[in-house]
Amino acid sequence: MMKDDERLRRMGKHTKAIHGGGLEKKVYGEISVPIFQTSTFGFPSAAEGAARFAGESDGYIYTRLNNPTANALEEAMTLLEGGFAAIASSTGMAAVTTTLLTFLSQGDHVVATDSIYGASRMALQFEFARFGIGATFVDSSSTANIERAIGRNTKVIFLETPTNPTMAVSDIRAAAELARARGAILVVDNTFAGPYLQRPLELGADIVVESLTKFINGHSDVLGGMVVTRNEELHAQIKRMFTLFGGTIDPHQAWLILRGLKTLPLRVEKAQDNAGRLARFLSGHPKVTWLRYPGLPDHPQHEVARRQMEGFGSMMSFGVKNGLEGGITLMNAVHLITLAVSLGGIDSLIEHPASMTHAAIPREERERAGIRDELVRLSVGCEDFEDLRADLEHALSCIP
Ligand SMILES: *Cc1c(COP(=O)(O)O)cnc(C)c1O
Repeated sequence: MMKDDERLRRMGKHTKAIHGGGLEKKVYGEISVPIFQTSTFGFPSAAEGAARFAGESDGYIYTRLNNPTANALEEAMTLLEGGFAAIASSTGMAAVTTTLLTFLSQGDHVVATDSIYGASRMALQFEFARFGIGATFVDSSSTANIERAIGRNTKVIFLETPTNPTMAVSDIRAAAELARARGAILVVDNTFAGPYLQRPLELGADIVVESLTKFINGHSDVLGGMVVTRNEELHAQIKRMFTLFGGTIDPHQAWLILRGLKTLPLRVEKAQDNAGRLARFLSGHPKVTWLRYPGLPDHPQHEVARRQMEGFGSMMSFGVKNGLEGGITLMNAVHLITLAVSLGGIDSLIEHPASMTHAAIPREERERAGIRDELVRLSVGCEDFEDLRADLEHALSCIP
């Protein structure tokens, strides 16, 4: 931990992003954290080596367990999410699966948001099922739906809010009260909002998982994930699983993400400003049939979003005239916006979930989760608003 960590905890979000995650001792007064590109660490004596393994000394052992550069990123994320401690992982999916596997055993059950990230849903629905772990997927924007799905053996409630790609918002505080009353652990995937806009732990969640690949790194060039916990006990349990399963982050990867993290607030502010203006432009456009953006008053959970988010973010989804065909025309006609999956980078990206990210989910279940064929997902970046608007205006004009 940094010496002035307690002081930093009381500072603003921009300051936290820039100053979080330093080293306790600087070697040469360096501003940037060094990349400790080493797989293992020498012990000064046999006794010290034994003490480190016994947990009696906190020196480093091996990078799968801990590494100073990875720890710096973890401290920065702990500070931003307002948690007890964090564990950086190789990808967002490593964070999701390792966390869930920590708390779910044969015969256990998880209640999850129906339109969660495609890979999270597939892992639960098809892979965890092989080990006798049950999963019920519900529209968690209604807390009553979560409550109805909870059974005797429900150990985990797994929410994603806003969800991917339908932008449904779930009430984290209400879910946390429910989880506590029913003895379940509340895990929230905070990828879509990120800690600058939403801090689930402050709203009562036990664990936050997220993909650092998206907003946190923000430049569409590195993968990474993070788990942040509310207390020491949860942290120790998950840390043990990371050590055994091995989904740990690499020091160079951690350094790149730490670099991206420092401008998170600036990027989110710019992208969110663009997104709010684009949402208003698109929702008034004759070729757009519907649009979901938590910042618009017609979003079904707009009030919940206002309460629990400090901004509405830069993700939206919408439908266009001529359904699937119209969407395909749009995606092929954009020039500035790139047709690509992923999100949260400085580049604006557009994609089609039904044929891409969520194609592996059976159509009927997909539609039940609100992922209609004509749904187009837009991740708004940091370009100039006028250029983005003109690109979409032209692409929409290509739809008959
Ligand atoms: C991308 C994403 C993930 C997975 O992250 P990776 O870094 O790609 O493994 C998980 N949840 C959400 C909401 C995501 O958008």
